[in-house]
Amino acid sequence: MAEDIDRFSDEWKRCIFMARLAAITDKTKTIGLSQLLAGVRKENPSLFRGVDWQRTALKLTRLSPENLHQASQAKAEIPLDAKAKRALMVAPEVAKKSGSEHVTSAHLLAAVLSIDAKLRKQLLKAGLSKESVDMKSAARQNGGRGKTMVSRSGIGYDLHRLVEKRKLMIGGIEVPFEKGSEGHSDGDVLCHAICDALLGAASMGDIGTHFPDTEERWRGVSSLVFVRQVRQYLERKNWRIAHIDAVVVAERPKLGPHFPNMRVALAKSLGIAPEQINLKAKTHEGLGEIGRGEAIAAHVIATIES
Ligand code: MG
Repeated sequence: MAEDIDRFSDEWKRCIFMARLAAITDKTKTIGLSQLLAGVRKENPSLFRGVDWQRTALKLTRLSPENLHQASQAKAEIPLDAKAKRALMVAPEVAKKSGSEHVTSAHLLAAVLSIDAKLRKQLLKAGLSKESVDMKSAARQNGGRGKTMVSRSGIGYDLHRLVEKRKLMIGGIEVPFEKGSEGHSDGDVLCHAICDALLGAASMGDIGTHFPDTEERWRGVSSLVFVRQVRQYLERKNWRIAHIDAVVVAERPKLGPHFPNMRVALAKSLGIAPEQINLKAKTHEGLGEIGRGEAIAAHVIATIES
């Protein structure tokens, strides 16, 4: 079920939200197809490129900042009418037909127009592209007109104790130092935070769920194994990694000189270019466990696209 909800893009959810505001603005008792279209138009106007609104009797509510503000104050629950309900059920089918992982505004538009011939005729006459009407091609619009891209971000954080007789592995490489990070695997704090950020962006849980430290097979393993595995999880769901931004917090050693090698190692495992990874180093100003050199931490934000 969680996976099903995940299929609906944020843009899709905003379309439905905007449709409700259109119904409030229109003072209708239900959300109908024209309110859904108003929502789609507000969220993704490029889908209506070519439409000359002067040439059609169809009047969609224009959601201006003023009426949006007014409508958003209203508390009333507004139900969908029968046709709008059907459109919402058809849209995921449209997405499925084209092999799209996500249900977007383009699919909603195609669904609305597939169940109301009059609306379809009116909009085509006014210049709407046939692509937008066609159930299959509308869903394939990711590469052309009406391009809709879904972008998500996730955060990751990790901290490891620094102890003697351990290697200090950070970002997939060994950093020469008198201590290393404690951990079931190789204790690579940066790799772990990257995994959590990516899993978070894709709503796929966290590193502990996928690679529990109770499992013997992960003992002493290179954390790049986790990074590569997470990359595969994302690829299976059609996510691309757009960018990784990280802060590694350690009092010592100096990490900046090692960043170029870390970026290369991480980029290779993530299947992206080193330029898509930004690394920053901070000390803890001598404060707390990190400041005393007893621990190392990392913060990461990952951005993914589909
Ligand atoms: Mg860890």
